[in-house]
Amino acid sequence: MFNPTFSPTINIPENVQAVDSLFLNYDDDPLIFAGGTHIMRTVMDYPNGHFPQLVDITKIVGFDTFVRTEKTVEIGAVNTLSHLHELGEPFFEDAIKLCLSSGAPEVVKRKATLGGAIAADGVYYNIVAPLIHYNASVEVHFYKGNMPGNRIQSLASIYDETEPRLIEPLLITKVIIPYTKHTGEHYSYYREVGSPIVNPSDSIVFVGTFTSDEVTNNISINATVLFADVGFFSLSETNQTFQVTTISSFEEIEILREEFKKAIEDKFNSDDELICASRLEKTLRIFEDFLLSVSERLV
Ligand SMILES: Cc1cc2nc3c(=O)[nH]c(=O)nc-3n(C[C@H](O)[C@H](O)[C@H](O)COP(=O)(O)OP(=O)(O)OC[C@H]3O[C@@H](n4cnc5c(N)ncnc54)[C@H](O)[C@@H]3O)c2cc1C
Repeated sequence: MFNPTFSPTINIPENVQAVDSLFLNYDDDPLIFAGGTHIMRTVMDYPNGHFPQLVDITKIVGFDTFVRTEKTVEIGAVNTLSHLHELGEPFFEDAIKLCLSSGAPEVVKRKATLGGAIAADGVYYNIVAPLIHYNASVEVHFYKGNMPGNRIQSLASIYDETEPRLIEPLLITKVIIPYTKHTGEHYSYYREVGSPIVNPSDSIVFVGTFTSDEVTNNISINATVLFADVGFFSLSETNQTFQVTTISSFEEIEILREEFKKAIEDKFNSDDELICASRLEKTLRIFEDFLLSVSERLV
């Protein structure tokens, strides 16, 4: 309901320079508004006297582009999740497509934007998992002192290590996903358990891929797990992707399971127990299921 005391002023800039003047002219950073599906459901954020200025970025020229180059797919930050699902069908890896076809209801995905799903404060939404897994980068516009600037950095590096939020105020302008043309055998696996909306502390998103080298027949296994309230871990993040020649026995699965378990515990449970035993066990069962699917494909 409209409340003149708390309802913010909505600015609708058409270019990034106009966003800059808003950020540079207000002591408290304005709140960026894309689809608004996260902002509006978090009652504390909207309408809210702490954010008297809202910047609606959906009309900024160039923010809705979708460009496929030889090596990347570059996606403007205000593309909606449902638009991406349609546009990305021929280009995206299966795990990204599966993520875009599950999760939030269609009516939400028609409004929710890619940038908003990445930058939501206090929770990691599901799409972050496959993007991290495929080593996505973001083009960002940032504010340091009175000087705005642009840079491209890995998606993983924009997040605070200790909680689901951006390290600094950023305007995400574009998401860049490397495009891989697979020559050897390739398989990607996606699972989400629970919901980051209903119960973030119970939700798990898992992405697994295997690729086989055509020449050596060696198999490379990467796995990424995202815990909505805590953070993400990818084997490739620590150069720990598993290199194996085959997965043909339960003993081999057991060994990889133990290594994956140790890697997750090293990241999340070495100081505090951020991931409880039952959530870790669920994650490891999904990992086993992924390995079983890989082994079936190798027969
Ligand atoms: C009913 C419901 C069910 C849902 N279910 C699921 C689910 O099952 N799985 C799932 O993963 N998600 C789910 N979602 C979450 C949904 O995916 C997010 O709300 C949505 O992606 C946020 O995008 P938005 O464009 O609406 O963001 P907004 O609400 O506009 O913004 C979100 C945050 O990001 C910031 N922001 C937005 N764009 C940018 C940008 N370009 N640069 C920097 N900061 C920016 C804003 O300031 C704000 O803090 C659900 C949401 C709803 C309402």
